[in-house]
Amino acid sequence: MRFDIITILPCLFDSVFSGGILKRAIEKGLIQVQIHNLRNYTEDKHKQVDDRPFGGGQGMVMKAEPIFNAVEHIQEKKGSPVYLLSPQGKKFDSGKAKKWSEYEQIILVCGRYEGVDERVIRYLITDEISIGDYILSGGEYASLVIVDAVSRFIPGVVGKEESVQQDSFSKNLFDFPQYTRPRDFRGMKVPSVLFSGDHQKIGQWRREESLKKTWIRRPDLMDKDLSEEDKAILGKIKSEKKGKNHESDESC
Ligand code: SAM
Repeated sequence: MRFDIITILPCLFDSVFSGGILKRAIEKGLIQVQIHNLRNYTEDKHKQVDDRPFGGGQGMVMKAEPIFNAVEHIQEKKGSPVYLLSPQGKKFDSGKAKKWSEYEQIILVCGRYEGVDERVIRYLITDEISIGDYILSGGEYASLVIVDAVSRFIPGVVGKEESVQQDSFSKNLFDFPQYTRPRDFRGMKVPSVLFSGDHQKIGQWRREESLKKTWIRRPDLMDKDLSEEDKAILGKIKSEKKGKNHESDESC
């Protein structure tokens, strides 16, 4: 799996791949990350990557020509996807990360300034991709989010495969609460079930906590095809919550 990142600021990537899971993935040959300086694909002596917008207005716009040149040079197969990072794009999520982990090559084009010439969007890229409803100063930050999230789905990148399966979003449920030593921190105690040694009980508690957290925070994520057991747990959680609301109504 190879990520090709096209940017006008290659220095921003200097240290991000020099530690952690991504460093190990690169060393093991599970992923390759190539950073391409867009200026190397310009055709004028000033290596100009941006220009003023036609029609006037604020800021600068990234020129189409170097981006077309870069993608045409880097793309190994016609079908390899080319994504432009953009706040106007389709929202990136865990489903996309998993699907994209099956590609051999992904090209990520990082925008800057006011964005890129519309002809790049219409005639070159596969899709525009956003990492959230806010404005970043450049696509570089978004591209790193994507490289990290996609890489986690590549077998061998995360030491224990089960941790990826267990992560929030993998099964449309948030991960359960985690605790580590000490058992008692300033009077805040770890739930006793976790010391019971009863793995069935622990598993059930974790499942309940995952269902509860997801139902309270993000009911839209919840799988419509819940098992009968999960439906029963959820019914119990809902009635407990109703009871609590009722109690507080009375105390008001
Ligand atoms: N004027 C643009 C607009 O309103 O859509 C915003 C340009 S922004 C300052 C510069 C670049 O940062 C964009 O071209 C894009 O590559 C990147 N960017 C900003 N926000 C992003 C987001 N939420 N997701 C992905 N990329 C983003």
